[in-house]
Amino acid sequence: MLLDNDVREKLSQYLQLMEKDILIKVNDAENPASTEMSDFIKELAGLSTKIHVEAASLPRIPSFSINKVNQDVGIYFAGIPLGHEFTSLILALLQVSGYPPKIDEALIEQIKNIKVPLHFETYVSLTCHNCPEVVQALNIMSLLNPNITHTMIDGALFKEEIDSKNILAVPSVYLNGKPFSSGRMELEEILLKLDIKPILPKLDGKEPYDVFVIGGGPAGTSAAIYAARKGLRTALLAEELGGQINNTFGIENFISIKYTEGPTLAANIEEHLRSYAVDVIKMQKVKTLRKASMVEIVLETGTILHSKTVIIATGARWRNINVPGEAEYKNKGVAYCPHCDGPLFKGKTVAVIGGGNSGVEAALDLAGLAKHVILLQNFNKLNADEILQKRVYSKENIKVITNAKTTEILGNEKVHGLTYLDSLTGNDVTIDVDGIFIQIGLLPNTEWLKNTLSLNSFGEIIVDKYGKTNIPGVFAAGDCTDCPYKQIIISMGAGANAALSAFDYLLRN
Ligand SMILES: Cc1cc2nc3c(=O)[nH]c(=O)nc-3n(C[C@H](O)[C@H](O)[C@H](O)COP(=O)(O)OP(=O)(O)OC[C@H]3O[C@@H](n4cnc5c(N)ncnc54)[C@H](O)[C@@H]3O)c2cc1C
Repeated sequence: MLLDNDVREKLSQYLQLMEKDILIKVNDAENPASTEMSDFIKELAGLSTKIHVEAASLPRIPSFSINKVNQDVGIYFAGIPLGHEFTSLILALLQVSGYPPKIDEALIEQIKNIKVPLHFETYVSLTCHNCPEVVQALNIMSLLNPNITHTMIDGALFKEEIDSKNILAVPSVYLNGKPFSSGRMELEEILLKLDIKPILPKLDGKEPYDVFVIGGGPAGTSAAIYAARKGLRTALLAEELGGQINNTFGIENFISIKYTEGPTLAANIEEHLRSYAVDVIKMQKVKTLRKASMVEIVLETGTILHSKTVIIATGARWRNINVPGEAEYKNKGVAYCPHCDGPLFKGKTVAVIGGGNSGVEAALDLAGLAKHVILLQNFNKLNADEILQKRVYSKENIKVITNAKTTEILGNEKVHGLTYLDSLTGNDVTIDVDGIFIQIGLLPNTEWLKNTLSLNSFGEIIVDKYGKTNIPGVFAAGDCTDCPYKQIIISMGAGANAALSAFDYLLRN
């Protein structure tokens, strides 16, 4: 039995939501991976009388497809979608059975109108928390349009394909046999990459808002919910809802929930946000702010919106190391997410650049998979928490090199090494590695505010204890500010604080 009792019970409950019968076609052979997959499908079919199974010839062994009884849908799984892909499996089963996907009508129409054949293949690892978003989006596209098919491929099972295509980052999507994209993408972004422009809500001529929140991470959503609960006319605009938590794996310090994962928390936060009267504007970027009688919010599209108050919660992003080779070998051995891409370096040698908490955590994480991990720190000692340092020094397959300033990433189609300057000897040292994980902290998303607001030397927005900036009516919260600690719960608190301050400002002005 592959499924433990808890998972079986959960799955049985979900399968009760199935509307019509479905047919799973299985392609297997006489090998352990096929036997495991066939046993899994049998177990699955045993949980619902609506699931029928038959043998079929499919492009990959082992693999299976999920179909309507009289119609192939084009959703294939090459591998057993457990781990993070378990939700993708449940959704595929329900949606093929007739349970409608939760996406906008406009998007459904855009997908149905695609006339050309699109055959997507997504290479995933089952520990990748960014992969399901892409798998689920492409499965929905296959479900809605007979011209589209999609195969999820477990890279650990189809290693030869991964190696022959030089795939060193997941999710890696191929379209009609050619590289299409790498990394997390929402359905709208996939359509945009296919040159299908999103149907954006009409923004010109919108009535001014009381509170306009920029950013849809923990700080922004919390601010919007607090503002809406005060009965204020509120908008939240974000390039991507969720923010950094979309890239976070396990979260164990969100008080009241012992353990959750980034994408789950992001989905819960969005559901909470949408239960209030907040105008949510997705996939838009703010270019600049201007203070007139109200605050003018200028979008990159040129649209100008007006609000009596603004709360900036634009968070932060991975800091690049900015050495030759970094951009060139991104996703070809240069990686930022150990949870996603770590499994692709199983048995190999990897370097982690950065001796703070995130670097040391990444090294510890990778030590369980990689043959050797080399942790490079440009200072003379690590600056991670003591407890993490102790653990890292106790691992036999982690080597820590201090005083090492990375100067170049070396490769030839994919990474094969790096050079660092040994600041004690002044010598350049080259080491051979198969992958490089860059973990040198975050940069605030505030470049667009340089000439508008007071920022500190790190580019963080300077705020007081009320979340006020130097412009009356403009507040800020979360990782984009000079608050000393960058955490989910702190950002949420700061968002609430800024919203209450905006409410107070509106009472007095
Ligand atoms: C890998 C990783 C693991 C982490 N693990 C934990 C953990 O376990 N526990 C914990 O408490 N914290 C953790 N953190 C930190 C935590 O995720 C952040 O502190 C938190 O997400 C900050 O929230 P925020 O809303 O301030 O910013 P963000 O989450 O960065 O959100 C910023 C928002 O602003 C939007 N945006 C940016 N620029 C613009 C623009 N110009 N126009 C429109 N929208 C824009 C973005 O699209 C996004 O919606 C982790 C962070 C990382 C990267």
